Amino acid sequence: PITPAVTRAEGVPVRCPVPRVIGEDVPVPVRGGGHVPYANLDHAASAPCLEAVHEAVTRALPYYSSVHRGAGHLSQLTTEAYEEARETVRSFVGAWRRSAVVFTRNTTDAMNLLAHVAPAGTTVVVFETEHHASLLPWRRSVRLPAPASAAEAVAAADRALRECPIGPRLLVVTAASNVTGELWPVEELARVARRNGARIAVDAAQLVPHRPIDITALGVDYVAFSGHKLYAPFGAGVLAGRADWLRAADPYLKGGGASASVGRTTRWTAAPEQRHEAGSPNVLGALALAAACEALSDARDTVAAHEEALLRRLRSGLAELPSVRELRLWGDDAPRVGIVSFTVDGWNAGDVARTLSEEYGIGVRDGRFCAHPFVRHLLDGNDSAVRAGLGLGTSEEHVDRLLHALAELTCTVA
Ligand code: PLP
Repeated sequence: PITPAVTRAEGVPVRCPVPRVIGEDVPVPVRGGGHVPYANLDHAASAPCLEAVHEAVTRALPYYSSVHRGAGHLSQLTTEAYEEARETVRSFVGAWRRSAVVFTRNTTDAMNLLAHVAPAGTTVVVFETEHHASLLPWRRSVRLPAPASAAEAVAAADRALRECPIGPRLLVVTAASNVTGELWPVEELARVARRNGARIAVDAAQLVPHRPIDITALGVDYVAFSGHKLYAPFGAGVLAGRADWLRAADPYLKGGGASASVGRTTRWTAAPEQRHEAGSPNVLGALALAAACEALSDARDTVAAHEEALLRRLRSGLAELPSVRELRLWGDDAPRVGIVSFTVDGWNAGDVARTLSEEYGIGVRDGRFCAHPFVRHLLDGNDSAVRAGLGLGTSEEHVDRLLHALAELTCTVA
């Protein structure tokens, strides 16, 4: 009874050309009375739930039981489903059979787990453009300033890795920026890491909702992402990649599941997944995340086409508003996913976001997006911006409503 693995095993093809999200037209109050359908332009913070995810969780709810512990039939089915979810994630990121796929709470947790298992003395090279989840967990890091181009990013990483002190080296990079949506040259950075005897970890939190990733083809050692940005609910994330550091380190959390035998001394479980997933895991979160992976894998081209059309519409509309300035690190044509941050001359970002919500029923994010050094660099003095995050719950009407609202705010409506 527990899916989504069952659906696959029964051979029923999971085909979903344009995956749909639930709760698209939730009415929200606007100032002056009345309601309008919510325009969710905040997918980059947390994406709404996919129908396929909702169905998978609903199917699993009546049947779930303990994993890895119970002899009962439902415990065994739940354990099977949980482990199949792990395999779904493995193939979603293109990880080797012998790699580890550890379920975590989110990307932040995954990066902290990686920091925990990295051998003592590891030097981490990281750009200041990172989200705090990938910028802060490291014991010893070299921070590189925002590069002026993708090519400069590769050259700067190469230089920094070459100059690292003796010992293990790790390059950490975000595949798609949560501030500008710009795509980083992961393949070239992986090549540079390898050339310098370093490992590379990719923060794919903002990439995987929009684009596929194949860490084996890219030569990437670790990847981390969150279920709640991938159209699944909160509380489940992933760290996938090379197993050796995970196998050698003390458990991230100590407790049941991580311990193989406990007497005067404790022997820890050797399998890297169990070793770092002590306690009862978030089974429904893992099933939900895996269902999202399946639904998106089956529809990559349509997901990208849907989003690219909306992104073009939004960016060309913003470019026509003289007092709106889009934040970007690299050229106008640099490849990017559906994330656009901007400032509005004469307006505080918080006031823009509040007005969009209260008067137009539009949800956006404002602030520094947990990437303070990067936003500070881009804003050059200003301290916050507005961010629109597009995705499968976004329609042309949402984009047009935002453009119309901004035109009204800046008094450029004809
Ligand atoms: N990395 C990036 C690029 C993000 O955009 C985010 C969230 O905004 C994170 C990491 C952290 O994700 P979580 O809050 O799910 O741990």
